[in-house]
Amino acid sequence: MAVKEIIRMGHPNLRVCAKPIENSELSSSGFTELITAMKETMQKEDGIGIAAPQINISKQVTLIEIPEDSERYPDAPSSTLYTIINPSIEILDQTTQGFWEGCLSLPGLTGFVERPRKIKVTFTNLEGNTEELIAEDFLATVFQHEIDHLNGILYIDHIKDMKLFSFNKEFEEFFIQDPGDDNSN
Ligand code: ZN
Repeated sequence: MAVKEIIRMGHPNLRVCAKPIENSELSSSGFTELITAMKETMQKEDGIGIAAPQINISKQVTLIEIPEDSERYPDAPSSTLYTIINPSIEILDQTTQGFWEGCLSLPGLTGFVERPRKIKVTFTNLEGNTEELIAEDFLATVFQHEIDHLNGILYIDHIKDMKLFSFNKEFEEFFIQDPGDDNSN
């Protein structure tokens, strides 16, 4: 199995900028193995995204896939599998939106983070070509969270109100609103 250990908050390697990937690396067996390991680790942990630094590899690559049946994010719309190499972000709409985020590197915790709601991501694809995509709403948050990992940033760095930072168990007990309440999301 190619499932790797996820390093957790406090590990200094989560706090450094990852190294860009050369196009010549993309066809190497080592790179293919890295992508497979990231995918299998993300799926085993029921994550919707993973960045190479989380398995202690300093490379600018992240995978994002929101499965239909995500247990951790049951309300999130599903997505295709994105493989994003050497990305940069341009904010298209400064209007912020807030979501409760979690992270495989901070197990058992969740926090409310506001981020721009619409972004353009420019990245290298697996074939070595430059691609662009536009992400909105929850998917925009997921892309920003994962790309932050490539720059040594964790979602907790963006929490404005630390009262909205919680263990999952307490979050479920005290923050999740009644399904009949219109404000729930
Ligand atoms: Zn994360």
